[in-house]
Amino acid sequence: MKKRLFTPGPTPVPENVALAIAQPIIHHRNLEFNEIFSRVNENLKYLFQTIRDVFTLTSSGTGAMEAAVVNLLSPGDKAIFVNGGKFGERWGEICKAYGVNAVEIKIEWGRAVAPEEIESELKKNPDTKAVFLTHSETSTGVFTDVKEIAKVVRESSDAVVVVDGITSVGAHEMYMDDWGLDVVITGSQKGLMIPPGLSFIAVSEKAWKMVEESKLPKFYFSLKKAKKALESGDTPWTPAIALIVALDVALKMIREEGLENIWKRHEKLSLAVREGCKALGLKLFGYPPSHAVTAVYFPDGIDKKEFQKVLKYKYGITVAGGQEHLKDKIFRISHLGYYDEIDIVGVISALEMALMDSGFDKFNPGDGVKAVQKVFAGFEEKLVQKDNNDEMLSCCH
Ligand SMILES: *Cc1c(COP(=O)(O)O)cnc(C)c1O
Repeated sequence: MKKRLFTPGPTPVPENVALAIAQPIIHHRNLEFNEIFSRVNENLKYLFQTIRDVFTLTSSGTGAMEAAVVNLLSPGDKAIFVNGGKFGERWGEICKAYGVNAVEIKIEWGRAVAPEEIESELKKNPDTKAVFLTHSETSTGVFTDVKEIAKVVRESSDAVVVVDGITSVGAHEMYMDDWGLDVVITGSQKGLMIPPGLSFIAVSEKAWKMVEESKLPKFYFSLKKAKKALESGDTPWTPAIALIVALDVALKMIREEGLENIWKRHEKLSLAVREGCKALGLKLFGYPPSHAVTAVYFPDGIDKKEFQKVLKYKYGITVAGGQEHLKDKIFRISHLGYYDEIDIVGVISALEMALMDSGFDKFNPGDGVKAVQKVFAGFEEKLVQKDNNDEMLSCCH
C-alpha cells in the first residue's frame, strides 16, 4: 500500500529532495557547503520576500519561536500574544518560561483575531515591546490577516510584529519587508517540503536593534552568533547538513514554480478540499480558512476511531486529528507543500470511502470528487486579480 501524508507537518517530501538527503554527507566548513548555503540563503530571502538575512537554525519550528522571544526581549518586558489555537498559545508559554510579561488576547479557537482587538490591547498596554501573531493557525485551520494587523501596530505603537509563518510561508501571500513584518519564522517540515529539523528566522532592522539590547538568556539560539557566522557563509554550530542540502533542491523547485504560482496553487487546492467536504455534507471548522490546512468536524454518528483507522490502514491516508479540546471534534486535512490536483481528488475520494465504511451515508459516492473537479475546472476564471507586488518578487534573487 502507498502511504500518503495529509498532515500539516511533516508534509510529503518530493523524490528529488529525498535523493539529495541520501547522498554521502559533506563537511560544513568547506567550499562545497559554503556554495550550497549561500545559494540557500539567497533563495530564503526570496521565499520570505526580504532583503534581510534569514537565519537557518537546526531545530524544529518551536526553536525559531523561542529564538524570537529570547533574542528580542529582556526580563519583565511586556508582549502581547493571541491565544486562538495551540500555536498562538505557545507564544505565551515561551514568553512566560523566560519571565516576559505576556498579555494574552484569548479568543475562541476557530476564529481569527481582528486588527481592532490588537489595537485596543495596545492602547491598554502602551509599553508593549512585541506583538506575537500566528499567520496560519495550524491547530484550527484559521488564517489571520497579519498585513492589516502590522499596519495597526505600526500606527498605534512602537512594538515589533513577530509572525509565526510556519504554515503560511510558501502557502499564503506574504511580503515580509513590504508589509512591515519585523520577525518572520518558519520550519522545514511544512511548506518547504523537507523533513523536520530546520527552522528559519528573519529579523527587520528595527527588530535587530532590540536583538542588540536584549537581556534574556540565550546561547544555542543566539542570533548575534548566527549573524556573525553567516558573515563567513557559515552557522555557529554543526547544522543539519543533509537537510540544508535537501533544502537547496526544494528551494530551487520553489523558485522554478514561482511564489505567486505557489500561493495560487494552495488557494485552489484548499478551496477544492473545502468544496469537496461540503458536498459530502461535512461541516467545516474555523473561519477564515487557511490555505495550508482544512479543519473539518467529524460527522455525527460515525465511529471516529474506526473512521481514522480505515482511512489510514485501508486507504493509506494519514490526516491529523484535533488538538486539546478539539481532539474528538475535528480532523484536519493538510494541503501544504508538495501537492497537486490529483492528490486532492485522491484524498476526497478516500474520505468518501472511509466515511461510507464507517456508516456515514448522507451523500452519493462521487459527490465530493465531483465538487473538487468543478473547482479545478473553473478556478482560473474565478480568481480575483490580486494586487501583487511584482517589483518585490523580482528583486530578491
Ligand atoms: C508546526 C507548527 C509549529 C511548531 O513546529 P514544531 O516544528 O513542531 O516545533 C509552530 N507553529 C505553527 C503554526 C505550526 O504549524
